Amino acid sequence: MTGEVNILSEWIPEQMAPGTIFVLENAGKVGGEDDPFWAVLSCPSCGTLGLITRRQVAGLIPVICGSGTCSAQFFLRESEIVPRMPF
Ligand SMILES: [Zn+2]
Repeated sequence: MTGEVNILSEWIPEQMAPGTIFVLENAGKVGGEDDPFWAVLSCPSCGTLGLITRRQVAGLIPVICGSGTCSAQFFLRESEIVPRMPF
């Protein structure tokens, strides 16, 4: 579950393959004022789509897959997916 993030410039759901990110058109305007939603990311492990926040895009906090059957946790570093090391 590592590799490059694939950036989609247009919202084409069929092209949201695992590890694809799409920056919201209203990035920063929805969600918490402190850490607003920024993009949609397709889980690199299972492909479940989820909203991620500005801090997650910046790699400050880990992304945790929202699927109940997937426990993927990872950071976005530059345009790389870096698995979160278990403590
Ligand atoms: Zn997942």
